[in-house]
Amino acid sequence: MIALSDYARVVVFTGAGMSAESGVPTYRGRGGIWQQYDYEDYACESAFRRHPQRVLDFHELRREQVLGCEPHAGHAHLASLQRTHPSLSIVTQNIDGMHQRAGGAVAAELHGSLWRLRCAQHGVVEDAAAGRFARRDCAQCGRPLRPDITWFGDMIDEAVFAQARALIEMCSLFVCIGTSAVVWPAAGLIPFDVRQRPHLVEINPEPTDGSARFDQVLRASASALPELLVP
Ligand code: NAD
Repeated sequence: MIALSDYARVVVFTGAGMSAESGVPTYRGRGGIWQQYDYEDYACESAFRRHPQRVLDFHELRREQVLGCEPHAGHAHLASLQRTHPSLSIVTQNIDGMHQRAGGAVAAELHGSLWRLRCAQHGVVEDAAAGRFARRDCAQCGRPLRPDITWFGDMIDEAVFAQARALIEMCSLFVCIGTSAVVWPAAGLIPFDVRQRPHLVEINPEPTDGSARFDQVLRASASALPELLVP
């Protein structure tokens, strides 16, 4: 068990495993989305240029799937810890918006969000109401809006990455939940090799390539967070 009161600043870093118990499908592994679909047809900029409507259809399906799932006790617990411990920041690789639906505040969505679209010229459009997108083309120029997600071959938004890095540099406790930490550059944010290393905790039911480098490993599921992290 980890008492947050022992630490001035906390970063919780989450990956697909955070939402697995809510039923949000992972991308890799058994039953993963990339076993059914070829990402080159649905999750890269060139696919969007070739077939924007097909790519948008695919993302509407992802949104419908996520809306069919509910945040679990782990999401709710993080949100409630943020109320007693306002310096707890959530940095996520997830695009599903589950932390926010549980009432949590997310400091950095490294890979964007299913609930936003963007126009290359006119910027980001929030669209969180339903499975279907409210609109598929830019109200100003009429071009197709693309999901505001970091697809294969995209760069992570620099400002979002810098925000995450700044929070991680200042934290004294870093808790990594439900990520295999193989997707770069996000995985490089785990502060293994820094001079002032925070206490590093991994929460994951399975070992990962990085497990041996954490100070503390809790072989547990994300929904068990209420028993693992206490105010
Ligand atoms: P990953 O699929 O590579 O690894 C998932 C990790 O979660 C594994 O280590 C697994 O052991 C662990 N895990 C499984 N069940 C768990 C549970 N109940 N509690 C805690 N941990 C559990 O995921 P990743 O490292 O996040 O990388 C995948 C990338 O794909 C991410 O960058 C993310 O952007 C994207 N993605 C997002 C979602 C989402 O938004 N929910 C879903 C799939 C993929």
